[in-house]
Amino acid sequence: MARVAVIGAGVVGISTAINIQEHMPGSQVTIIADNFNQATTSVGAGAWIVPWAPGVDDATQRKWGRTSMDYFIKLAVSEESADSGASICMGIHYSVEPETPPYKHLMLSFDPLSKESAEKLNLGKFYCFTYTTVVVDMRTYLYWLMARFKARGGAVQQRKVKSFQELEAEYDVVVNCAGLGAKALTGDEKLQPMRGQMLRVSAPWVKHFLHSSNSFYFIPNVDNVGIGGIKTVGDYDTSVSHDTSKHIWENITKLWPPLKKARPLWEWTGLRPHRVPPRVEPEVIRYGNKSLKVVHNYGHGTTGISLSWGTAVHAAELVKEMFAPTSRL
Ligand SMILES: Cc1cc2nc3c(=O)[nH]c(=O)nc-3n(C[C@H](O)[C@H](O)[C@H](O)COP(=O)(O)OP(=O)(O)OC[C@H]3O[C@@H](n4cnc5c(N)ncnc54)[C@H](O)[C@@H]3O)c2cc1C
Repeated sequence: MARVAVIGAGVVGISTAINIQEHMPGSQVTIIADNFNQATTSVGAGAWIVPWAPGVDDATQRKWGRTSMDYFIKLAVSEESADSGASICMGIHYSVEPETPPYKHLMLSFDPLSKESAEKLNLGKFYCFTYTTVVVDMRTYLYWLMARFKARGGAVQQRKVKSFQELEAEYDVVVNCAGLGAKALTGDEKLQPMRGQMLRVSAPWVKHFLHSSNSFYFIPNVDNVGIGGIKTVGDYDTSVSHDTSKHIWENITKLWPPLKKARPLWEWTGLRPHRVPPRVEPEVIRYGNKSLKVVHNYGHGTTGISLSWGTAVHAAELVKEMFAPTSRL
C-alpha cells in the first residue's frame, strides 16, 4: 500500500490529497499540518474563480485553467452547491487602462460593457467588462473538502514539519502543499508573502461582484460581502491595520455607494504564497545513502483557490508516476 503524506491543510493541500486518493485507489493518504480551517490563508480568500497564474507556460496554463474551471462550474450547478459554498455569480471588472484578462476564454460569459452602461453605473471613467464565473465561500468550502477527504479514509495529523527528512521512514512520497510555509522547508527564494486585507460586511442586497486586477473590489459570499484590494509583496505582517480597513472602506464606498449602509462584521489579514510561477514539480531529496521522493505544489499567489483543483490533479499525476515501475525518479 502506497503511503503518501501531504503537508498542508489549505485549499491546495486538501484538494491534492483528494486527487491522490482518486488517482491511486488503495493508497493511504495523510494530511499533516500545523494549522487548519480558520487558521489558514485559504479560509479568508474572496474567492473568485479566475484560474490563471503568471509565468506559467501555455500548455500548463491551459491544463490547470480548464481543469479548475470545469470542476468549479460542475460543483456550482450540482446539488452540492449549498454544502460546498460554490455558486455561479456575475459581476463587473473595471480598470484604468484597457485590459484583456488571460482567463477570458474560461469564463461562462464575457462581454465588454459599453461606455453608456458604465456611465449609468458611475464607472464611466473606467474600461469595464462583465463576466460570469464561480464564487466560493471559503468558510464553507474548506470544511466540505476536508469531510470529503476523511470520508474516503484519509488521515489527519496536527503538527509542524521541520524538515522533509523527518517523514522519510514513514512515507513513500511527501507532497509539499505548505503554501508560504514551503519557504522554510525548501529555502525557495522565489517564494514571498503577498499581504492582503479584507473587510467582511453584511449587505444582503449586493448580488454581484466588482473586480479589479490592482484596485479595490467586493465579492458576495453566502452571508457576507468581502471587500479588499491590498497586495503588498514581501510584507509578513499578519496584524489587522484599522487604517488600511478605513482606506479600503472609503475607496469602495466612493466607487459603489450601495455599500455605504452595510453593517461591518470582521476584518482579516492573510499572506498569499506568491511565486512566479507556482511550483508544481517532482524532486528526489538525498540524505547520505537515503532518499525521499517529494512532489511540490505551492506558490499560488493571488489565484490559489482558482487554481487549486487544476494543480492538485497535476500533482496527483506526478505522485502516481513516482510509483510507476518505469519511473526514472
Ligand atoms: C485577501 C485575499 C484574498 C484572496 N482572494 C482570492 C480569490 O478571490 N481567488 C483566489 O483564487 N485566490 C484568492 N486568494 C489567494 C488564496 O487565498 C491563496 O493562494 C491560497 O489560499 C493558498 O492556499 P494554500 O493551500 O497554498 O496555502 P494555505 O491556505 O496558507 O495553507 C498552507 C497549509 O500548510 C500548512 N503548513 C505550512 N508549513 C507547514 C509546516 N512546516 N508543517 C506543517 N504544516 C505546514 C499550514 O498550516 C496550512 O495548513 C486570496 C488571498 C488573500 C490573502
